[in-house]
Amino acid sequence: MPPMDAELIRGYLEFYQDLGIKTLYRRAAPAPDAVAPTGETLPQITTQTTEGDRLRHSETLPQILADIGDCRRCRLHEGRHKLVFGVGNPTAPLVFVGEGPGADEDAQGIPFVGRAGQLLTQMIENTAKREGIALTRDDVYICNVVKCRPPENRTPEPDEMDICGQFMARQLAAIRPKAICALGGTAAHYLTGRKEGVTKMRGKWFQWREVPVMVTYHPSYLLRAYNQEAKREAWEDLKKVLHFVYD
Ligand code: URA
Repeated sequence: MPPMDAELIRGYLEFYQDLGIKTLYRRAAPAPDAVAPTGETLPQITTQTTEGDRLRHSETLPQILADIGDCRRCRLHEGRHKLVFGVGNPTAPLVFVGEGPGADEDAQGIPFVGRAGQLLTQMIENTAKREGIALTRDDVYICNVVKCRPPENRTPEPDEMDICGQFMARQLAAIRPKAICALGGTAAHYLTGRKEGVTKMRGKWFQWREVPVMVTYHPSYLLRAYNQEAKREAWEDLKKVLHFVYD
């Protein structure tokens, strides 16, 4: 890659800052024979100053995945079988963001495929059907704040989310959804910067950059037998976000 001028570097830094990325790491210089043709892997970022311009000039999902590579940037890589990047429509108007992969996701490399994932799929597809919206799981995009399974399914640590969350932010900037649905407290807090419990936040609109964020319960929470009322509330939240995006 040729040396970048100061203006271009400033453009990159402003872009990432606007995505909420606080930590930058230095990538090791590639071996000479691994150097890509000039510009091939560079995100098409310009120095425009409006948010709309910045998001329009972002990179593609395959470029972000290539940048993640065989990631060892945080300790979560140590127990990983498969990195779980995200799945679905790369131009989806609606993105669901969860916390991090569980055992099934770690084994398959696909987010929300275990019991909670099956419930999420049912919730999306059944709610849409009942509301007269033609929508399947494949029409939306699904990802997590962190891409590797935390040990024992613990909540990701703040430094892990800071490192990995920058890739989620870049995914969102690449997709440019009309709305985001945050599943559970970890995603809700990370995306909105708020600290209230999910019970207080659910059913309300917040923002990630200029994108509206609807908060609802995590499907794992809804799987617990005593959570009938929470289940009803989650359907309500989902109805709200589906009508906002697809009406
Ligand atoms: N829980 C999450 O937060 N994400 C997944 O992908 C699966 C379970």
